[in-house]
Amino acid sequence: MANSKPSVLLIYTGGTIGMMQDARSGELRPFNFKALTQQIPELEKFDIKLSSISFKHPIDSSNMHPGVWIELANIIKDNYRKHDGFVILHGSDTMSYTASALSFMLENLDKPVILTGSQLPIGIIRTDGKENLITAIEIAAAHKNKKPIVAEVCVYFEYKLYRGNRTYKYNSAHFDAFKSPNYPALAEAGVDIQYNPSALLKPSKKALSVHTQLENDIAVLKLFPGISKKITLAILSTPGIKAVIIETFGAGNASTEEWFISALKAAIDKGVIIYNVTQCSEGKVIQGMYETSSALKRIGVVSGFDITFESAIAKLMYVLGKKLSFAKSRVLLETSLRGEISV
Ligand code: ASP
Repeated sequence: MANSKPSVLLIYTGGTIGMMQDARSGELRPFNFKALTQQIPELEKFDIKLSSISFKHPIDSSNMHPGVWIELANIIKDNYRKHDGFVILHGSDTMSYTASALSFMLENLDKPVILTGSQLPIGIIRTDGKENLITAIEIAAAHKNKKPIVAEVCVYFEYKLYRGNRTYKYNSAHFDAFKSPNYPALAEAGVDIQYNPSALLKPSKKALSVHTQLENDIAVLKLFPGISKKITLAILSTPGIKAVIIETFGAGNASTEEWFISALKAAIDKGVIIYNVTQCSEGKVIQGMYETSSALKRIGVVSGFDITFESAIAKLMYVLGKKLSFAKSRVLLETSLRGEISV
């Protein structure tokens, strides 16, 4: 902490938290940042130096894309030394994708980057946005023995702080919208904010390294009984494809039909990464546990272990962006880089 008053940078990208209802159509649309902060006079009472950067055109997070992740990573890079923590206001729909992507893009963090948003706009009396924002700022500013308590990319929502790359949005109607099925909460906010020190990543001692090369030539093949051969082959042979996530059953299992395994093998032989991510939200891929995953292991399918789908997409974009050999990419995918998998 440079001076006694911690400094937090708020980055406003859009999302429901700052939306207003269009008077005529009734649609919710992103509104400007000033209108949002005017609704939260509590921000003035903080003993925290708050600065802000707002996107000129705030977006609904369904319009999120890697270009915006790069913009966010660069904003953090350019302002990294000036602040003790960062809070990104973001729509909840794709918050877990952005949190995952930023976790890979921002290597060696020694301060917190907290994403938050809300299910109800800040202007609505019952909004969850105020609590989410106020506590996220408090966490972004929190220090112990002059060191930040949190030093990773997180999602804060409805009294819980999660490792961002472990989350997914599971509920579009409840304030409690996120889950982290395979990793415990990093903190819980009640009367006090109770941190879970054994779950938190340690602040890095190395300099921040920002990675902005992302590669999105990725497809997803969600398996289901009766999946079409024609469509599977078409996806696997898409020109320019670099990786395919196969969303498998249970502990990473798939059909053992000859045409299916040969199609995957042909793609792998051409250098396409086939990444095994389970459809179950809890538990993990264990290739070779059942006969129905042994062939996948044998032909060189990469295990996603307990990675979330959101994090798998972000990790693939990050790893492919490095343009490494198939073997080196595989090693990175099967290694925990930012605490995203339990291996
Ligand atoms: N559609 C909104 C968004 O993701 C939903 C939200 O913010 O909760 O931008």
